[in-house]
Amino acid sequence: MKLLYCLKCQGVVRLIKSSRSCECGNAEGLYTDNVNAIYSEKEVDTVIPFGIANNQFKESMVARSTNVKSYNPRLVFESWVMAKDVKVFKKVKMNVKG
Ligand SMILES: [Zn+2]
Repeated sequence: MKLLYCLKCQGVVRLIKSSRSCECGNAEGLYTDNVNAIYSEKEVDTVIPFGIANNQFKESMVARSTNVKSYNPRLVFESWVMAKDVKVFKKVKMNVKG
């Protein structure tokens, strides 16, 4: 899953196939198909695109639902900040709503 983190309002936006933006309106993005996404920022270098490993996240939720009552490695999932040249999550200059 692809998300945006806005440094201005500390908002996190989970992207979907229609445009979404953070609370302050600085970060905006959407999926253009099942894999690729685009985003924009009103202020330069104020939006951090990042991802969550879907399968690991799902496994963590399953672990929680199966009575894991305290910290357990099964609850851990991976997330990462996207490199600036990642082809599946591109920054665009214009408002992504077009
Ligand atoms: Zn914001």
